[in-house]
Amino acid sequence: MKKTTRREFFKTSFRAGAGIALASVAHPVVSWGAGTESATLPALLGGSRSHAGGWPAWPVWKSPEYDGKLLEVMRSGVWSRAHNTDAFEAKWAEMVGAKRCLSVVNGTNSLITALAQAGIGIGDEVITTPYTFVATVQAILMNGAIPVFADVDRETFQIDPVQIERKITKRTKAILPVHILGIPADMDRIMAIARKHDLIVIEDACQAHLASYGGKPVGTIGFAGCFSFQNSKNLPIGEGGAIVSDDDDFMDRCFSYHNLGFPYGSRAGSLSDAFMVGGKVRFSEYQAAIGLLELQDLEQASALRWENGQYLRSKIAAVPGIAPARLYPQTTRAVYHLFPFRYDKEQFCGMPRDLFLRALEAEGVPCSSGYTPLQTQPFIRAAFESKLYRKVYPKSLLNYDAYLLKNSCPESDALCDEEAVWLTQNMLLAGHREMDEIAAAIEKIHSHAGRIMDAFKKGEI
Ligand SMILES: *Cc1c(COP(=O)(O)O)cnc(C)c1O
Repeated sequence: MKKTTRREFFKTSFRAGAGIALASVAHPVVSWGAGTESATLPALLGGSRSHAGGWPAWPVWKSPEYDGKLLEVMRSGVWSRAHNTDAFEAKWAEMVGAKRCLSVVNGTNSLITALAQAGIGIGDEVITTPYTFVATVQAILMNGAIPVFADVDRETFQIDPVQIERKITKRTKAILPVHILGIPADMDRIMAIARKHDLIVIEDACQAHLASYGGKPVGTIGFAGCFSFQNSKNLPIGEGGAIVSDDDDFMDRCFSYHNLGFPYGSRAGSLSDAFMVGGKVRFSEYQAAIGLLELQDLEQASALRWENGQYLRSKIAAVPGIAPARLYPQTTRAVYHLFPFRYDKEQFCGMPRDLFLRALEAEGVPCSSGYTPLQTQPFIRAAFESKLYRKVYPKSLLNYDAYLLKNSCPESDALCDEEAVWLTQNMLLAGHREMDEIAAAIEKIHSHAGRIMDAFKKGEI
């Protein structure tokens, strides 16, 4: 199987689930294991599938319930930022327990804006994880700063605080932890490092809506938190993003920055002209309307993902060679935007991960190998070779080969190249029976690994 990007993967997995509504988990019972050879064989070898139905569709538009609200906005003719956007921001701030929220066009721009207004820019280094979506790192480069990669803890898939501390230099200005896959990073240790070294913490919570750590929603533990509402995310609007923070001055500046530098909040009374440099990355009313509708289900769906995710973890942890991501003890909720486990082919008769993924897909369980290494992708080199970087950074810092060496991340690479397997969040919106079927599929592949490998070596599959 060729490596798929996250979005290609979503396309396929959603095609499989097309037409299955969130609440409808009923479909014909699969009778694998009922005694016949073809029923117990892996589907890849001609047996019946462990899961025969579809999966909950994503995103979910509840028609006709939602239709009126969106039509009301469209018919009003007020499509640019107005009261629906204000209402969405107030609601999201309330749900995560932040003082303020600012919506923007997408998660990428929430990160760009937050970094810029936290004072991060040319000359600064920002420490982040290599195991993330490309947007995290683009946001650092878009501000003219240098991304520095702290490798992950392979067991948790999250940035490793020990590696963070090793990467601090006199240029380090911020830590950008990512709650990747909807699982909280180890924020207690990250915040302790930040306090010790006087660094700003901006959380990339783009995959982690309503995940919590020590009872606190992620995105509200550091100085600011960033969210994405892209189509695949647990809170889907198509495009959309938000910044949350308790710091009024910072949030006022973020507002101005997202609105062409026009004054806002504390500066609104004294000025009327644009007073700072800013772009225009405003949310629109129809995005806000969709967001308000989708928010109605978010708490319930997050609780369900957590419950099913923990149930699935407990079922598959017993299979030799399968290691679900370990959670930090302070985790009070993971929302499993992607449900990850590590695959050890040695426990599967040497079956390459791609073949395991094929076998699992054949069982009716959509899956992917996840991210490919990020820290070596050409866009970082392109930034280093840009006019701006060459002008403002010493040559030694832009030595790309030396940079690659310093930023090597073998733990993350192992996840990307060998071990990681992902399931998507929409699958966790099904029931316990479907979780049982996923576990049964994995067990079936494990117990027939030798036969699958024989067929593979003979070129039969
Ligand atoms: C999706 C995502 C982003 C970017 O959000 P967009 O809304 O797609 O711009 C940033 N970081 C992470 C970890 C993401 O998953």
